Amino acid sequence: AKSAGGNRAELADPEADARAITRHGLTTALPTALERGEFFIEYQPLVHLGDGSVRGAEALVRWLHPQHGVLGPDRFIPLAEHTGLIVPLGRWVLEESIRQARAWRERHGGQCGPLRINVNLSPCQLGHPGLVQDTVEILERAGVTPDALCLEVTESALIGADDDLLKPLRRLAEMGVDIALDDFGTGYSNLANLRRLPVSILKLDRSFTQGMQRFPADPVDLKIVEGIVSLAHSLDLAVTVEGVETGAQAEQLRILGCDTAQGWYYARPGPPERLHDLTLVDATG
Ligand code: C2E
Ligand code: CA
Ligand code: CA
Ligand code: CA
Repeated sequence: AKSAGGNRAELADPEADARAITRHGLTTALPTALERGEFFIEYQPLVHLGDGSVRGAEALVRWLHPQHGVLGPDRFIPLAEHTGLIVPLGRWVLEESIRQARAWRERHGGQCGPLRINVNLSPCQLGHPGLVQDTVEILERAGVTPDALCLEVTESALIGADDDLLKPLRRLAEMGVDIALDDFGTGYSNLANLRRLPVSILKLDRSFTQGMQRFPADPVDLKIVEGIVSLAHSLDLAVTVEGVETGAQAEQLRILGCDTAQGWYYARPGPPERLHDLTLVDATG
């Protein structure tokens, strides 16, 4: 098998070629795409597990590519990170979604409580010296207070992060911006390490939610989530769960003490208008 495959391995794999060409094509098209306004944002509601109310939404970027149609972030964020375009792209996402948060707040006034916006931050943006200044300016220009913003940083981006990398996050947290640790539980970080980080929210990775699909859930999965929630709460951290697809998952996660949930069960990511009518989200199970 080795000798037969040996030759073949040297031949070009047409599919891999096509993927590489697309990757190359997408990479070179990224800067003009930003200039031409081909990116757009979908919003997915964050729902309070206790009372079912919508507390905010996560901004998720998409690319309406003129040839390939709508591309998800997994297709182009890594390319943008590689070329550095993630810095202006991330700034655009922040600006656009803060503008949206302002519109929601105006629409709902105090009636539905302040809607907050969650924005993903790439590790490259964390290392960029303009982060704090840009964020302050964007908030001021939109007339939005920092407490309306939550920045999501992945656990893996902060593992082993030195103080230089944490400093901008600390400054933002001091200003009142919430920092969430995204994809929590996938990064093998030392739990004691959490105290060092300026985070106020743990976003439990979807893999944990998947373990809650059966009812009753696997007892080991239950124990793990229970442990994470009690640790988080003892450190004064709120727990958000993502990838909630069924009412059974929502119910188990609520019983386990998770605070906020996000997932297809409540709503798929969608246009900002959907968040105008908060009653559209039926979280009563
Ligand atoms: P993430 O931050 O972990 O976002 C959650 C992902 O789960 C989103 O995928 C969302 O559409 C998907 N999702 C939500 N509910 C469910 C559910 O119930 N079931 C399942 N199976 N999936 C669900 P999406 O939109 O494709 O985004 C993928 C990743 O791309 C995000 O993962 C985030 O890491 C990154 N990303 C998205 N927007 C941005 C951005 O503006 N900047 C940066 N740096 N990264 C972004
Ligand atoms: Ca996220
Ligand atoms: Ca996540
Ligand atoms: Ca993820």
